[in-house]
Amino acid sequence: MTFRKLIRMPGFLLDHRWTRSHLSDEIDGQLGPEERSRLRRHVDECESCHRLLESLKQTVHVLKSVSFRPAPGVADRVIEKLDEDPADPTACKGHDLSS
Ligand SMILES: [Zn+2]
Repeated sequence: MTFRKLIRMPGFLLDHRWTRSHLSDEIDGQLGPEERSRLRRHVDECESCHRLLESLKQTVHVLKSVSFRPAPGVADRVIEKLDEDPADPTACKGHDLSS
């Protein structure tokens, strides 16, 4: 069915808007069983929401695959390094706005 025909179906536009605002909840697994079946029903008949859901899923998948956890102790080593090399307190002299 085309989007133009769908849009004339009673309740379609309501479900369409509702689905758009709940796609991220679906991806996060935050929807209850009734909300979930409402969303699935709409996504099955609405090509536009179907594509949006698929692209959101892919985006989330990519984001998850590129995220990395620094090795344990990295933060401690950075802090140690900063302690070894304190900033020169005279370095800001030229930026004194009071003179
Ligand atoms: Zn839709």
